[in-house]
Amino acid sequence: MESAHPVVYRLIPINPAAHLFEVHCTVERPDAAGQEFFMPAWIPGSYMIRDFAKNVISFRAESSNGPVNVKKTDKQTWKCTEAAGPLTAIYQVYAYDLSVRGAYLDTTRGFFNGTSVFVCPKGCESHPCQLLVEPPNGSEFSNWRVATAMQCAADTELYQFGHYQADNYDELIDHPVEMGTFDRVEFEVAEVAHEIVISGRHDADMDRLGRDLKQICQTHIRLFGELPPLTRYVFLVTVVGDGYGGLEHRASCSLLCSRYDLPQTGAEDVGEDYRKFLGLCSHEYFHTWNVKRIKPDLFVPYDLSRETHTQQLWAFEGITSYYDDLGLFRAGLIDLTSYLELLGQTATRVWRSPGRFKQSIAESSFDAWTKFYKQDENAANAITSYYTKGGLLALTLDMHIRQLTDDRNSLDTVMRRLWGEFGKRGIGLVEGEIERIASEVAGHDLSDFFQTYLYGTAELPVDNALSHIGIQFLQRRSVGSDDKGGAEKQQSELLQVSFGAQSENDPSGVRLTVVFENGAAQHAGLSAGDVIVAINENKIDKARFDKLLAGAQPGVEWVVHVFRRDELMRFTVILQEAMEDTIYLTIDEQATADQVRSRDLWCWNDPGSDK
Ligand code: ZN
Repeated sequence: MESAHPVVYRLIPINPAAHLFEVHCTVERPDAAGQEFFMPAWIPGSYMIRDFAKNVISFRAESSNGPVNVKKTDKQTWKCTEAAGPLTAIYQVYAYDLSVRGAYLDTTRGFFNGTSVFVCPKGCESHPCQLLVEPPNGSEFSNWRVATAMQCAADTELYQFGHYQADNYDELIDHPVEMGTFDRVEFEVAEVAHEIVISGRHDADMDRLGRDLKQICQTHIRLFGELPPLTRYVFLVTVVGDGYGGLEHRASCSLLCSRYDLPQTGAEDVGEDYRKFLGLCSHEYFHTWNVKRIKPDLFVPYDLSRETHTQQLWAFEGITSYYDDLGLFRAGLIDLTSYLELLGQTATRVWRSPGRFKQSIAESSFDAWTKFYKQDENAANAITSYYTKGGLLALTLDMHIRQLTDDRNSLDTVMRRLWGEFGKRGIGLVEGEIERIASEVAGHDLSDFFQTYLYGTAELPVDNALSHIGIQFLQRRSVGSDDKGGAEKQQSELLQVSFGAQSENDPSGVRLTVVFENGAAQHAGLSAGDVIVAINENKIDKARFDKLLAGAQPGVEWVVHVFRRDELMRFTVILQEAMEDTIYLTIDEQATADQVRSRDLWCWNDPGSDK
């Protein structure tokens, strides 16, 4: 067999001010029938068609004989009609997407995912890839460096522009690359170098970040028993004024956060914002096992040309969402009260969505591409989240297994088996496999459990599940539009009524963003997008609206004037009694010794543990 010739890429930040990369992709021996080059339609980890080819500009090709004819055959494929090698495709990519899913270039920094910039020569998917990353031209860029988990070639040192390499296209596009000036802090876990790379304006306590992330990494490694084989792991963090997002990769993750989420030098507490950032890091690091290696068989390999539907996303995002915050608690970075606040907020998000009775978690996974990722004003009424409700399903399953096995086994056991039997061996999971393993670990057929809560839309018995560890699940009414749940409130603060909508401030009044099914607003005929300009014929703003609601009684009628588009309309809203849709959790002070023991085992607080 002919040895696979490498595909050679060259990436040039050719015009940072115009946000343009230029890419050259050379195939030594092109397909004699005409070489095709294609761009991915989506990026693994983010289940939506993004059509990265839309940012490709002036595609052309050259061979040793000169210019080659190129014909576009679909939205993301270019076919070169002449076959003489070596054949080089040359194109520019417009890169001005600050998200973790895309590519970005300006005069201050560059960042890219391979899915946004690299075409794949058809037939060469498994060939090794060589990449030359060039610096932008100009003395103002002379202090730029490169950060990526991609392997450097022998002639290039870490952080230098130069040659990098990947075993195949799948690996090439799984190592995002940052270029610019950035701060770094290193730490070692399981004898593997880890580092945090921060670009963007910030004033973070880097040493503390290193210490805290090390604790998180150790906690997840302890759960799975080992780190997957890695030479390095990189947290690539982009800091902005306001932003949030993360995307997992095999040896790194990309994070977007606010500079105000990062710990300031001198501060020692874990406030709400820093807790959110730590939760994001914990989430993406957990994915190093769960979804980057333990993955659906449909993702082995990925078909990046179109949607790949699976009912299993809940296991990769829901289970990961359960362990991300739990990991902070197990690592000792937050206490039980802080953890229960987070869990109560997650439950509140689920309990406020009537859509959970219409769409199952399995359906939410399957339709992620067109529903979860394309939410509109009706999402709360129509869909559920495989992240939040999936996370609560993971919690419920964990407690169920603990109950059934007298705490000998748990979801931790399931994860270790998934790693050892599938992830570690590179075997994908078929539909139903995770349920089968959970049943084995529980020593019980869990088909009914999954039928009811994963494939059905029954309310999750989170209250019953948490009683296993002596935690009380409590419901109350909201205290207002800023109430995210998770905390107890005085009876006197609770709203008596519900308007049946979410709203935001608008220059001319109050804009309805969500109108809940069967709520007071919908019964009156109000719609999302309506701007309330007067209540009982008096001008209104958001602050006044919230105050009126806080003082109102169920059954009261309001005359509501709204603009729908440019048309003034009048409605009568009869305020409804508020629902107990806000969750908070408390430690049961009357818990039995068995419940306390189960709680200690769950959070790894057992005496004699190596924590
Ligand atoms: Zn995730």
